[in-house]
Amino acid sequence: MSFRRLRILLLLGVLAAAAGLTWLEQTMVRAWQTPLDVAVVPISGDGSPEAAQMIRALQASDFDDINAFLERESARYGVKLSPAMQVSLLPALDEMPPVPPRDGSVLKTVFWSMQLRWWVYQQSGALLPQLGTVKLFVLYHAPQDGVALEHSLGLQKGLIGVVHAFADPSQTQQNNIVIAHELLHTLGATDKYGAGGRPTYPEGVADSSRPPDAPQHAAEIMAGRYVNAAGRVVMPASLEQCVIGAKTAHEINFDAGFQRRFGSSS
Ligand SMILES: [Zn+2]
Repeated sequence: MSFRRLRILLLLGVLAAAAGLTWLEQTMVRAWQTPLDVAVVPISGDGSPEAAQMIRALQASDFDDINAFLERESARYGVKLSPAMQVSLLPALDEMPPVPPRDGSVLKTVFWSMQLRWWVYQQSGALLPQLGTVKLFVLYHAPQDGVALEHSLGLQKGLIGVVHAFADPSQTQQNNIVIAHELLHTLGATDKYGAGGRPTYPEGVADSSRPPDAPQHAAEIMAGRYVNAAGRVVMPASLEQCVIGAKTAHEINFDAGFQRRFGSSS
């Protein structure tokens, strides 16, 4: 066999192994048999004193309301897990993850997602990839008036989230909404909002038994917002005001987990 052929064969082998590992890891986390293993890696997003202070004071318990949200919502679908997730807070990183392409070209996006996965693997310091662990890189930024945070993202392949959050303890509940949203992306949930951030109907509203234009009292987590009594699209106050709708539940395998566990056909 020529060297060239051997090289192609090796490359194909590596790609096949990567695809197999991705499949295995998705099967593991979406089975909901054990608490979800989540590693949070804080990063200063802007080098500000506020971000440094936020990261210094950070504790794993700051993410407790995400677990409470998952426990409450999974129970509604018959998946009883307590705790639903376990957070390990890893030391802060001094390095930024690769930035996604701005123009959204498919090829650049594919290349960037491979770069990101490689970056995550290198940062782990481990020889083998951490299979089944959701890796959330949370970049803290000092709040600035009128300046919106960059878009956060969650990737199903590699179970990776890059979250932009506010370096302000009073924003912890808001940050946790964004983190929960990206966490569910890594498990296969899709966005449920359209133009102007308006929730899509019926999958993007908390109570789909109400008509499309009726006000809601809570948000579907993958819509991230709801239309209030004044007709405005607003953010919920905390995860207590968020639900996992039927479509998201299906996407993250809540209903299948329920059926397997209890042998129900409903
Ligand atoms: Zn999203």
